[in-house]
Amino acid sequence: MQLPEDSAGIKWITVTSTPAIDGTPGIDKWGNRGFIETLIYMGREWNKEYPSSPLLINDISLRDGSTALRGTASHGPAGNEVDILTARTGNRSGRVTWEDPSYNREQTKKIIQLMRKNGFQRIYFNDQIIRDSLPYVKARAGHDDHIHGRRE
Ligand SMILES: [Zn+2]
Repeated sequence: MQLPEDSAGIKWITVTSTPAIDGTPGIDKWGNRGFIETLIYMGREWNKEYPSSPLLINDISLRDGSTALRGTASHGPAGNEVDILTARTGNRSGRVTWEDPSYNREQTKKIIQLMRKNGFQRIYFNDQIIRDSLPYVKARAGHDDHIHGRRE
């Protein structure tokens, strides 16, 4: 199932260096039905509180899941992993690192808590201050400007 582009509280973003991505909008926005439905639900919940700064959804999986999008065995055929960009200050769109002056820690933490509340078991993000307060968040190389989440 493809994540709808026009869901409340959700915005498609394509930020990747993966050769499998050919620029087709939404090519990396496929996942298993339960997972996509969870993201849609999260978007609706998010939209109630932050209607002017939707969740910025980057990679999920390709339609056939054939190619891992990041690293090895990541964003593959299970269709149950997502990259969500960090939040910025002033209700603007994200993709800033946790060290950037316009990084919005409070709102980024809210994104992570929303993911956790909706069953994400594995969450990677490198902001040490967030990891200190949310011990289920783990550091992983490359996760300075987005949160990676996996939901079984
Ligand atoms: Zn990821």
